[in-house]
Amino acid sequence: MQQWNDTIIALATPPGVGAIGVIRLSGPQAIAAINAVFPSKNLEKQGSHTLHVGWLTYQGERIDEVVVSLYNGPRSYTGEDVVEISGHGSPYVLQRILDVFLENGIRMAKPGEFTQRAFLNAKMDLAQAEAVADVIASQSEAAHRTSLQQMRGGFSLTLATLRDELIQFGALIELELDFATEDVEFADREKLIALLKLLRQHVGGLLQSFKLGNVIKNGVQVAIIGKPNAGKSTLLNQLLNENRAIVSEIAGTTRDTIEEILNIEGLLFRLIDTAGIREHTVDTIEGIGIGKSLEKMGQADLVLYLYDVQTESETDLHTTLQWLQKSGKPYLLLANKADTTSFETTNALLPRNALPISAKTGDGTETLKRRMVDWVLDGRHLKEDTIVTNARHYQALHEVDKSLADIAEGIVANQPGDLLALDIRRALHYLGEITGQITNEDQLDYIFSKFCIGK
Ligand code: GDP
Repeated sequence: MQQWNDTIIALATPPGVGAIGVIRLSGPQAIAAINAVFPSKNLEKQGSHTLHVGWLTYQGERIDEVVVSLYNGPRSYTGEDVVEISGHGSPYVLQRILDVFLENGIRMAKPGEFTQRAFLNAKMDLAQAEAVADVIASQSEAAHRTSLQQMRGGFSLTLATLRDELIQFGALIELELDFATEDVEFADREKLIALLKLLRQHVGGLLQSFKLGNVIKNGVQVAIIGKPNAGKSTLLNQLLNENRAIVSEIAGTTRDTIEEILNIEGLLFRLIDTAGIREHTVDTIEGIGIGKSLEKMGQADLVLYLYDVQTESETDLHTTLQWLQKSGKPYLLLANKADTTSFETTNALLPRNALPISAKTGDGTETLKRRMVDWVLDGRHLKEDTIVTNARHYQALHEVDKSLADIAEGIVANQPGDLLALDIRRALHYLGEITGQITNEDQLDYIFSKFCIGK
């Protein structure tokens, strides 16, 4: 257990007026400090995990009637003595309380410092600590679920298994090393190769999950594209009426285009540039407007291409399809205005992968939403699978994968065992970076500086 001799303090609830506000202290003086301003009871004599109501009084002045929670280390969030003071949620009152402590030798906490102490006191590993920030920032059910799973150690468990497999693999190679002088190939190459294949499958699966992880965390960027009057605005309104998400932007993520956010089955879909939706047009005959649409499509993860079954010509549709396929963007083809009678008279306008919908009546939009969700999940199950959501973890796993690829090559090229052992150590190093077994201070400071103050 690491010991700091300073005690830190911060407001743990958001700034502004609230029913209550919570101030948190952590460190060796935490309990003595609250005791000095809490005359009704000796808090230094109370048990851990207890609550106490009373007046916070400083220099003879009653500041607020508060509830104090006591946690004795190591059974606390940070592993140190922790005190939480719930006061009335007035920014003035809370600032007064903070000032009392700041005047008496307690220091203002840096962003993420409580969680940093928790990590350094081994209350959690680095991946779990990072998940704390993700849980706080989560804006949808899926983001909440994956970050919670990571915070509770699900991801760390997957990594530990991977680590064990690598170590086992390393041990086999070391065996071979020991006997190398006797010219005995101890570790069975076939077995090594099979084990390596399994390892690479595991890492590959985690790497692949990042596409979904990223989408869960940041939402799917969707562009609705089609000719004028195809029904883009109508579809947008239809979807928004059913599923508009209530989301407030997190500071620092302001976007330069206007977007609407849909929440479908707990996943966030960001509809790009909805203000300019009428301009997202495609003139397939002249090629005019394609550039513009491509621009919008450029940022999109998924394109919804909408055409009007009443007015679309077969040649136009054919050209559009070729154009979409060439773009390489994932898209869903929507045959709109399926409620019109003329629609039933022609099948040529309904290619195999087109989904008939009516933006006006809402017919077919349930299926559309289902297809959007299916596209995101791509056969994965949010509840059971370990999903990588953090770019830093993704990069480290990428390095692990590279090391494994080098080992595979080395085995084929009959490289000596000591060279292979080096690659294994490299893979273990990168795994350790994720959980924080291997870190440097700058990196830690960087990671925790992304937290909000008070966490
Ligand atoms: P945009 O230019 O692509 O945004 O197209 P709008 O959403 O403004 O729609 C153009 C016209 O088509 C409007 O008069 C809509 O009411 C009509 N419209 C849109 N969707 C449907 C639909 O599913 N069925 C029918 N019958 N009309 C539709």
